[in-house]
Amino acid sequence: MTREPAEPLRLDYLIKARAIHSMTGKTFRSVGLRGAEIVALSADLNELDDLAGHNTAVVDAGDLTLLPAFADSHEHLMEASRNTLLVPVDKARSVAEFTGMVADAARNAAPGEWILTSIGWHESNLAENRLPTLAELDAAAPDHPVLARRGGHLAVANSAALQAAGIGPDTPDPPGGKIGRLADGSRDGSLEGGAVYQVAAFAPGPDRTQLASALGVGSAAYAALGVGTIREAMINLDELLAYQDARDRDLLRVRVRPMIRIGNELTEDAAIALIDGLGARSGFGDDWLRIWGLKFVMDGGVEGAALEQPYANDPGNSGHLNWAAGAMTQVCAEAVRRGWRIGTHAVGDRAVRTLLDVYEAVAAQVGPLPPWTLVIEHGMLADAAQRDRAVRGGFGVTVQHPILWNMASEMLVTWGPERTRRVSPLDQWRAAGADLAAGTDLVRPFNPMLNVWGMVTRGTKSAGIQGPEHAISVATALELYTMGTARLNHEQDRLGSITPGKLADLVGYPADPLAADPDDLAELTPAFTIVGGRATHDPDKRLARVGE
Ligand SMILES: [Zn+2]
Repeated sequence: MTREPAEPLRLDYLIKARAIHSMTGKTFRSVGLRGAEIVALSADLNELDDLAGHNTAVVDAGDLTLLPAFADSHEHLMEASRNTLLVPVDKARSVAEFTGMVADAARNAAPGEWILTSIGWHESNLAENRLPTLAELDAAAPDHPVLARRGGHLAVANSAALQAAGIGPDTPDPPGGKIGRLADGSRDGSLEGGAVYQVAAFAPGPDRTQLASALGVGSAAYAALGVGTIREAMINLDELLAYQDARDRDLLRVRVRPMIRIGNELTEDAAIALIDGLGARSGFGDDWLRIWGLKFVMDGGVEGAALEQPYANDPGNSGHLNWAAGAMTQVCAEAVRRGWRIGTHAVGDRAVRTLLDVYEAVAAQVGPLPPWTLVIEHGMLADAAQRDRAVRGGFGVTVQHPILWNMASEMLVTWGPERTRRVSPLDQWRAAGADLAAGTDLVRPFNPMLNVWGMVTRGTKSAGIQGPEHAISVATALELYTMGTARLNHEQDRLGSITPGKLADLVGYPADPLAADPDDLAELTPAFTIVGGRATHDPDKRLARVGE
């Protein structure tokens, strides 16, 4: 009896490029992909040629360096995607550009549909240094309600929006709000405080179909920067459905690991009932969309973090805690018993100390837990004793240099220079032996290589270098941003390095980040990104297959 010879392994892609296995720094020269996985790796340029068939796309990329695709440990992809549905007036530099964008959006909208702008604009970025007026918005979009919110407390509306909200010429100012008026008493379109919400309440939010489409656009923008996985830092259950819609419609261009919000407005019983009602537990899903766990929020940020010492600019204020330790311990212990992982936002040292009290009590009640079951999100101002407690307890930490990069100027005011310099000291966390995973938390696509530059220089956007002694090496930064997050996601056997048997999530760069001048990293962007053996970003068609 003869046996058919086994079908020879045929690659879908044979990529000839320098490939860096994240953990060891060892380099290879050819990588073979089949289906969603890496199946072969060689230090020899031609050793894998025998595995290529006539359907194999051979990619000659000797000019590129391949890394594992980045895995962001903490980012708000849903919020960033929702923003893509808004008119990007934050990019306007004059009132005419601003109203031109509104007019364009109105032209493409169904009759009567609301035109809503990004909230991230400010009149100081407009040449005229003033708000657009009601008359200007009416001229741009006479037939559509327009609401241009600016930050949380101010907006400009047109006549159709005021009318839709039932605001007439004689409507009085609402409590805590102001409907702006011209000298002659007619409305100028500006809305302050409560008046913003009086109008915003009539502007419909996107439906699930729109949200799913927005996730496609949003996730593609991250893929274009070399991101392969995002741990989604906070969604509700409707948003989880939108993610599932996006997955079903094959719109996602990054893998997503969502965290479901458990709000501190709930009683303990209500929170436990909500968790019970979820049915599933951490790890449910597939390689593209898999539930990470639950999200709690212990304190605020630059202006609300719970601090041991008062705010530098407000000696009577030391921030706020959202949860009492006893209540949160009870909810978390029940959640962990049901198979849930928990990540908790804790920025200030008082918040981290309280969270450690909670996590230690949970571990004492429930018993030993696998690493990355109870996670500290940010831990930005943790002190040495708290770092040691986190390590002893096995509580991993997600770290985000881009928060310091973006907000250092504000931190210098609210927290003062000494605390700002020691925000997220990755060197000290590493020295203590902590489990770390790197990410961003900027609610917009952020170049991972700019993040790497920040971790190795402690550089910021507008406050220079803060705490240079806390810098880490490029290799360590890459490790925390790939394998670190893979471990956080309990996927260290599937993702995080260029290894046969792992998923084919790769990014190709026109320079070797380990050899480059760190200052050149800040501007480095990828030539292509591959997730699960599929091109998710390939502007120069370097990965195009025959016939494509
Ligand atoms: Zn966040």
